[in-house]
Amino acid sequence: MEQNAIEEYNYFSELYAINVGDKIEKKNSLSYLSWAWAWAELKKKHPDATYTVYENRDGWSYHTDGKTCWVKTGVTVAGIEHVEYLPVMDHRNNSIPLERVTSTDVNKAIQRSLTKACARHGVGLYIYAGEDLPEGEDAPPVPCSVCGNAIVPVIAKDGRTMQPDEIIATGERRFGRKLCSTCQKKVIAAEKELEKQQQAFDASLSAALPTA
Ligand SMILES: [Zn+2]
Repeated sequence: MEQNAIEEYNYFSELYAINVGDKIEKKNSLSYLSWAWAWAELKKKHPDATYTVYENRDGWSYHTDGKTCWVKTGVTVAGIEHVEYLPVMDHRNNSIPLERVTSTDVNKAIQRSLTKACARHGVGLYIYAGEDLPEGEDAPPVPCSVCGNAIVPVIAKDGRTMQPDEIIATGERRFGRKLCSTCQKKVIAAEKELEKQQQAFDASLSAALPTA
């Protein structure tokens, strides 16, 4: 792992470990984390964290294709920005048509979008864990064969959500075991370290050998 990849992984684990259990609000069977609280937690650990609400060309805080609207926000921690796009939705999570969007709707979307951007850095990420699962297909979590923790979805480096099925399949293919993403990262880091030591060893060995 490159140095900045290790740093990213370390700060992520720290933020992921924050207990948000008693800060979850439930609305229509969806779980929410308060933006103010998520931001406060993030700032406690990273006082230099910043956020951006991206405006459109006309300086509006939302974007539109003429039919529906969305917001674009970003949260930067330790120089890494995670950008989040979120449709402006009603309380049933349906997009609100452009002509019916109010500033309150936009404001709510911005707050939810920023909270999700914080989650991409780790804060309360597991709240969003099930959101991409089709209804009624929630299988019981599979434990990691190394640490025993449930194998939960994670946000990959490209911003995509990796579901447990995919994480388990990767683990079995690459390591022959069911591993959570944290343990997979540890194994990969260990492999890299071993490789580096082997290269150093090979280099010292060839330096010690008499040249022809
Ligand atoms: Zn594990």
